[in-house]
Amino acid sequence: MPRWSDPAPCDDDEQLFECPSCGKRLCSDLSTVTCDRCDEQMQNLSVPRPE
Ligand SMILES: [Zn+2]
Repeated sequence: MPRWSDPAPCDDDEQLFECPSCGKRLCSDLSTVTCDRCDEQMQNLSVPRPE
């Protein structure tokens, strides 16, 4: 069962990622993030903003 009630707050420079396997959410300023539990690439849920 998901335990979070809100999406993780991210700074302006960060984007929200979610693991497709375990649903873990993480904020990062990296372009790609790997889940440390599943070793899978996490999906970027944030829409990239053009500069
Ligand atoms: Zn995972």
